[in-house]
Amino acid sequence: MSLCRAVVASEDEALALPVYQVQPAQPAVAGWLRNLLTPVVAACRLRNTYPVEFRPTGLWGGWADSPDSAPDRRVAISNLALHRTKRGLVTTFLHEVAHHLTGIEHGHDAYFFAVNLMLLLRVSAASGAAPQSIGALADTMQLYDLAEPPAALQHEPDAGVGRAMAWAIAVAHEMAPTHLTAEDAAAAICDRYATFVAELEAAPAKREAAASARARAAAEAEGTRRELRSTTRLLRSISIWLAVTGAVALVEAFLVVKLSLS
Ligand SMILES: [Zn+2]
Repeated sequence: MSLCRAVVASEDEALALPVYQVQPAQPAVAGWLRNLLTPVVAACRLRNTYPVEFRPTGLWGGWADSPDSAPDRRVAISNLALHRTKRGLVTTFLHEVAHHLTGIEHGHDAYFFAVNLMLLLRVSAASGAAPQSIGALADTMQLYDLAEPPAALQHEPDAGVGRAMAWAIAVAHEMAPTHLTAEDAAAAICDRYATFVAELEAAPAKREAAASARARAAAEAEGTRRELRSTTRLLRSISIWLAVTGAVALVEAFLVVKLSLS
């Protein structure tokens, strides 16, 4: 078939191209993945179900669709994950579940980082965190997972990544051992994150208010010092005047006494 012939092919011929949609995975693959993820889901204390859909792509490791296109909270994972390590598959799954827990709009901010790390810590704790095992997952977090620190920290030399990460690590370690479900823990972390951001945003105004309060106090102290200095000067001149007056009175008294005796 020539190229021209292919271009002018009729619509019927073009429609002959077979198209398939994603089907449920083969039972063997599904069973293997269920065995791998069931203890992970239990360790994370996930209340909801997050179905896995393998997709035939190698461009990304995983994907969490918005609730509009994936109301069942589906997690898409690249087919290639089946050829890689179990550890990689678990971390990809938890990364995408963390997107569902935090809401797609949060991207890779500190809230997302804290929730993702909390899940990894729960799995690590449940499996005894043996080195090189699936359990020792907490060290798999990468800088990529915190790419959007709060805007209020953008002026910092590292664009705020360090402070945002420190906040997220502290909160994740605090929430991981609690008995809260992952969903409830994520909601609690969300509240903490809102407070963290609000405090960061209020910090410049707070610093400004503290600086002007300090300036006011310094001005008042200077006024008091000036007042004290002038009062001291006044007292000194009064003392001198009194001393002179006293001396004159003494002299006069002395003269009176002297005249009356003579
Ligand atoms: Zn992501």
